[in-house]
Amino acid sequence: MTATVVARSRDELAAARTQLRGRLAVVMTMGALHEGHAQLVRAARAQADAVVVTIFLNPLQFAAGEDLDRYPKTFETDLAICTREGVDLVFAPTPDVIYPNGEPDVRVAAGRLGDRLEGEHRPGHFDGVLTVVAKLLHLTAPDLAYFGEKDAQQLALISQMVRDLDFPVDVVAVPTVREEGGLALSSRNTYLTDSDRSAARSLNRALQAGVGAAAEGAAGTLAAAAAVLEAEPALSVDYLALVDDDTWEDAGAGTAKGRLLVAARVGTTRLIDNVSVTFAETGGRSTSAPDVG
Ligand code: AMP
Repeated sequence: MTATVVARSRDELAAARTQLRGRLAVVMTMGALHEGHAQLVRAARAQADAVVVTIFLNPLQFAAGEDLDRYPKTFETDLAICTREGVDLVFAPTPDVIYPNGEPDVRVAAGRLGDRLEGEHRPGHFDGVLTVVAKLLHLTAPDLAYFGEKDAQQLALISQMVRDLDFPVDVVAVPTVREEGGLALSSRNTYLTDSDRSAARSLNRALQAGVGAAAEGAAGTLAAAAAVLEAEPALSVDYLALVDDDTWEDAGAGTAKGRLLVAARVGTTRLIDNVSVTFAETGGRSTSAPDVG
């Protein structure tokens, strides 16, 4: 196993970057790595010649009162996972390396989608995400960048930023990795007590109920998912939404492929999850054509 090079400063990153040959992939993380992150690395390794993982807990995307201060930090384990997965380079800067002049005045504006769903509940969050993603893309200069479908709205916004602002990188989506019982892996799952965890499983159960009701159309899908969430009193739901997977507008009769999204708090932990929902050509309406015979 070749040791993974660790860069802490911009100079160390630049020096290590010049040693990497061929197509470079980046996997951006906030640390506390788990099997979901490992899956991103494996997907990256399968398509690229070299892989860089960034580990940076980005203060810009946390609002006051969120979990920045208690976010799990497990750098030694993270590094062992990166080495095991054959990562060539880890870039693990501190905030003063990324923001040497303090929080930047000029930021990427996430636009309309940035204000909806997660953005409505976490104002400014996606501006903070896109700003750091833009900076890390400049600093690592990859050919490919891998992001998880677990954070579907983030993935959509990063893809849009890359398109709208002509970043020379291909964004690759990686399916959500789940534990047995369906709970999506997340660094925040370490906050969950046993009873929280059993309530948290209702998130995926709700999404699956929605998928199962797709034949009843958008309204039926939402109703089936909502019924599962309502039956779990330990969940405090921020939103349950069904959007068109291409436009991110609310799904309707014309939607062929939707995305069902949920965000909820359980105990002190806020969790998000989503699934893709395929509708029949009618937009999932089970009504048949009028009989004109
Ligand atoms: P984070 O460290 O939580 O910011 O996540 C870093 C990257 O890993 C993001 O692209 C996430 O979407 C992705 N990711 C996190 N959890 C999962 C998961 N359970 N399955 C797939 N990708 C994930």
